[in-house]
Amino acid sequence: MDENKTIKGGISVETEHLFPIIKKWLYSEKEIFLREIVSNACDAVTKLKRLTSLGEVHGIEDDYKITVTADREAGTLTVSDNGIGMTEEEVQKYICQIALSGAMDFIQKYEEDNSSGIIGHFGLGFYSAFMVSDEVEVITKSYTDAPAVKWVGNEAGEYEITIGYDKAQRGTDIIMHINEDETEFLGRSKLSEILDKYCSFMPTEIYLNCDDDAADKEDKPVNDTTPLWQKNSSDCTEVDYEDFYKKVFHEYRDPLFHIHINADYPLNFKGILYFPKLNENYDNIEGQVKLYYNQVFVSDNIKEVLPDYLLMLKGVIDCPELPLNVSRSYMQNSQYVKRMATHISKKVADKVNSLFNLERERFEKMWADMKLFCEFACMRDQKFFDKVKNAMLLELTDGSHVTVDEYLEEAKEKHENVVYYANDPVASAFYIKMYTDAGMKVAILDRHIDTQFITLVENDKNIKFKRVDSDIDDSFKGDGEVMEDEELVTLFKKFGGESLTVKFESLKNTAVPAVMNISEESRRLRDVMQMYGGAMPHIPDEFTLILNPESKIVKHLHETHDEAVAKHVYTLAKASQRQLTADEMSEFLAASFELLEKSL
Ligand code: ADP
Ligand code: MG
Repeated sequence: MDENKTIKGGISVETEHLFPIIKKWLYSEKEIFLREIVSNACDAVTKLKRLTSLGEVHGIEDDYKITVTADREAGTLTVSDNGIGMTEEEVQKYICQIALSGAMDFIQKYEEDNSSGIIGHFGLGFYSAFMVSDEVEVITKSYTDAPAVKWVGNEAGEYEITIGYDKAQRGTDIIMHINEDETEFLGRSKLSEILDKYCSFMPTEIYLNCDDDAADKEDKPVNDTTPLWQKNSSDCTEVDYEDFYKKVFHEYRDPLFHIHINADYPLNFKGILYFPKLNENYDNIEGQVKLYYNQVFVSDNIKEVLPDYLLMLKGVIDCPELPLNVSRSYMQNSQYVKRMATHISKKVADKVNSLFNLERERFEKMWADMKLFCEFACMRDQKFFDKVKNAMLLELTDGSHVTVDEYLEEAKEKHENVVYYANDPVASAFYIKMYTDAGMKVAILDRHIDTQFITLVENDKNIKFKRVDSDIDDSFKGDGEVMEDEELVTLFKKFGGESLTVKFESLKNTAVPAVMNISEESRRLRDVMQMYGGAMPHIPDEFTLILNPESKIVKHLHETHDEAVAKHVYTLAKASQRQLTADEMSEFLAASFELLEKSL
């Protein structure tokens, strides 16, 4: 090898800062060195593929692959590819210079922003190999005719280049001489774990070879080179999506639905987002979005690409527009990331609408899981609300689902612009029956968030939601006689206190002597205050007792003013509105027995 020449050099003064920092600083996430080296190998293959497809290179066999080989005895970990390779000039340019300037950016950034969360979201590319190696060799042969080159660098920052090294195959071997404290990186289990985490979807086949396990040598690749998100949604089946979900997120349950995103220029990202089954446990659901960069895993749980109300989504996003070593603070401040979040939220709204419009039955079945999320999202984001508001469903006490518009349309002969609801179908059973007997539907709104959400709908549609016990709908009212009886009013106030309003209102149902109503406004105000811990002044309930002059009992009271009967009627009206307290109940039972005895 006469014409071989050897160049020696030092990786410039800056390395004094660089190497200690590489060693110490990336300590917690050392394992990313393998991602960096394998992704470089992938890039090298991708570059050569591109040249071939552009017709600039001919006669290259389509047998691209990457091999990761651990040799415990030699203490080396080698990543080999048959990609584009490097000439001597390229080694000079890309390994000795560019890589370092990238590293210097990194150091500067580190000095500005030393919040611990970003550690590991920076990589040093090629140089991260020194986190675990004492020495690194690069043996590379360009796809051109240029002679092969060997570069050897040590952790002190010195390197040596040999030109005309003996390598016949096109491509690059990165041979890392693993530091004796880091030998776990020579074991199969550690290596598969890292490859699984970072390289599962890299676009070139990756094979793992470990000398501790000769049996399944180069058996099959550790990665899936064509992940689902890269495919056309029309080429993927429902089962494909479910399998992918279960595999990637180690889930055993099916997701509720998925959204396949393929955002074109200028956003340019792909992804699949899954809506998990939520049901009751909204608070406990932690979503997970995995971020990829051209199929290279970047980070788990990138919250920044989603608006906060979508954080329970699980999914993958592949975004070549974000740098591979993207930092948290970059994500938080990037306009681009904000646009991604907006785009995703729009896609979710579109999906909700399409489920509503095209798969109504399925949508209704999902509603129990979706409702809370939709209401929350609507409250957090007016735009989201505007998009989906006509797809929001009400669950009725008969188990059916309607939109507010459908509800109002159906009810319009009986009442206009009012939606009647119950928050506790058991406690309000009496009222619900009253409404359903009169041919009216009652919605179930049984969560705190419902009360806030309906305020949004009320303002938007200029309608009212009224709880079944807040009002007597006109259609219940009879046109019977009017009654006036101050004495009776005074008698009832004795039980209910001065704040009780007593009214006579004839009701069609003559079997009902009295109904207790509570003002919607004051009750809602109280509910809200309770939610904020009741630090505000006590809001008295505004109760109204409606006495039905058509009822035999009320007629009897009008004549007799019998206090025992009046008390009984009052308690019954109260009991139909809410649960009696323990004292009220025992008093009521005693009074009932007494009445029963009298009637014997
Ligand atoms: P980056 O990948 O962000 O460019 P790296 O530090 O990871 O930075 O790599 C520096 C450069 O070294 C690459 O851009 C590439 O030109 C070259 N390089 C590294 N590994 C290989 C490889 N396996 N084959 C060909 N070129 C490589
Ligand atoms: Mg790289």
